[in-house]
Amino acid sequence: MIEVPKLEYGYDALEPYIDTRTMEIHLTRHHAGYISKLNKLFEGHESLAAMDLKFVLSDLSIVPEEIREGVRNSGGGHLNHSLFWEIMGPAEKGGEPTGKFQEDIVATFGTFSSFQEEFTKVALGRFGSGWGWLVLDQSGKLTVLSTPNQDSPFMLGSTPILGIDVWEHAYYLTYQNHREEYIKAWWNVVNWERVAELYARSLEAVAKTAR
Ligand code: MN
Repeated sequence: MIEVPKLEYGYDALEPYIDTRTMEIHLTRHHAGYISKLNKLFEGHESLAAMDLKFVLSDLSIVPEEIREGVRNSGGGHLNHSLFWEIMGPAEKGGEPTGKFQEDIVATFGTFSSFQEEFTKVALGRFGSGWGWLVLDQSGKLTVLSTPNQDSPFMLGSTPILGIDVWEHAYYLTYQNHREEYIKAWWNVVNWERVAELYARSLEAVAKTAR
């Protein structure tokens, strides 16, 4: 059974950029909803349930057809939100990354702010509900992309490093239809240390598969 994760910070920790009520509803209803659906879908599919969900999403053909669409949506929803909570932290952590991650961002996008611009453009341009991502693709290259609904970058063979939920439930209470203002505010709550750790771990994993 998959359980609803515990946040490492309080619901109010991301104020004023992300409001307390949004955080609470987002975790306890939206994310929890994906988890309970996924647990139900996995009933009677114990060997599938025991597998690493990242691996399952990277090859949905291994999922029996009658639960495939559900696993795609609820499994993606669970992994996407788990990463989302992890890469955020108390407001004013924000700032910019350092070390090798920062160097690789600059090598790929030119400057940190051009990375932010590109990421914002992609997240803003996602029509309807979905996610904006910084991923490590199969060749180990940093790339910005977006996915619709709860599709996971793992479905594209990419490893998500940083992701923003652009479903309206993620920002509507404070920002209503102003997704751009939400994205702008969200940079203040990114935990770059955590993102850099994730990046280092993912680089290693990609290097292993490439070998
Ligand atoms: Mn969400």
